[in-house]
Amino acid sequence: MTARLLNGNAVRDQIYAELQKEIGELDAAGVRPGLAAVLVGDNPASKMYVNSKVAGCEKLGLASFYLTPPATITTEGLLAVVEDLNRRDEVDGILVQMPLPSQIDAKKILEAVHPEKDVDGFHPVNVGKLVAGRPHLVACTPLGVMEIFRRSGIALEGAHAVVMGRSDIVGKPMALLLMHANATVTICHSKTRDLPEVTRRADIVVAAMGRAAMVTPDYIRPGATVIDVGQNVIKDAAQAERILANFPDRVANFRAKGSVLVGDVHPDVVNVAGALTPVPGGVGPLTIAMLMSNTVKAARLRRGRRASEPAGVRP
Ligand code: NDP
Repeated sequence: MTARLLNGNAVRDQIYAELQKEIGELDAAGVRPGLAAVLVGDNPASKMYVNSKVAGCEKLGLASFYLTPPATITTEGLLAVVEDLNRRDEVDGILVQMPLPSQIDAKKILEAVHPEKDVDGFHPVNVGKLVAGRPHLVACTPLGVMEIFRRSGIALEGAHAVVMGRSDIVGKPMALLLMHANATVTICHSKTRDLPEVTRRADIVVAAMGRAAMVTPDYIRPGATVIDVGQNVIKDAAQAERILANFPDRVANFRAKGSVLVGDVHPDVVNVAGALTPVPGGVGPLTIAMLMSNTVKAARLRRGRRASEPAGVRP
């Protein structure tokens, strides 16, 4: 069996086309959604992520505001930056790129972002709404996975879904979204005993652990749907050659570039699964698309309603 590959780039393009329409309607009502990205210090990986998010805004015609406070900023200094963004009407979404330098109380910063502008979905108010089954702004990566399910016709109701990983940004919100979609959900983590025995019972496996190629074919029931959230950059030649032994083109690519991106799912799982998100080109493209979607949603909910009301009733 060769798995059907679930193409994240195609899903992203569909979402962008729909967002473009919505942005046009907001524009007609005088609203241009805006995203503020805050990057503290100069961590190269963080810089790359923020640059792609700002590029996403530009591609869609959203306003973007890029703030780069110095790595030495204090918690109080950063709180003041966030408070200012909370007050600015043209800012609909605020994202503070993690990780933050060690002198900063990251929890305090995330809780300072106004819940209506919390496009990462990390604020306790938004987490609580998700738990209660009244989702407002939800974490982007799991939200993107739900779009892959929906647009690829993968039925969730009654399915047994196993989520590998319980982080606040991926595993937990993923499990909640699946549960609200009427899947039967099992959450696994580093203390779970006999993991392959648990995952082999799943109709759907979502792997989000940050463990390169850990999910080998023996973890998967033939025909199951496998979603690979992991993003692991491999630089070690022996490791790359071991993982990609059956993919000579990708080994050649590694040799040319000196690195390769692999997921948490072993590439050989393609021979067992019924459907699989590839890495790259699976879940990855959806995270930024859902950030854009959350920004447009935040603008529509906070400003769109106001803009579409007759002038006389505006506050
Ligand atoms: P975290 O490190 O925050 O969480 C990892 C989770 O996996 C933890 O719950 C941990 O368990 C569990 N885990 C680790 N090792 C094992 C193991 N051997 N067996 C079972 N469970 C294990 O990671 P994130 O959730 O932030 O990210 C997970 C992966 O997803 C990473 O590869 C990351 O790069 C990727 N990612 C991809 C995104 C995308 O856009 N595609 C966006 C965000 C993340 P415990 O709680 O017990 O420690």
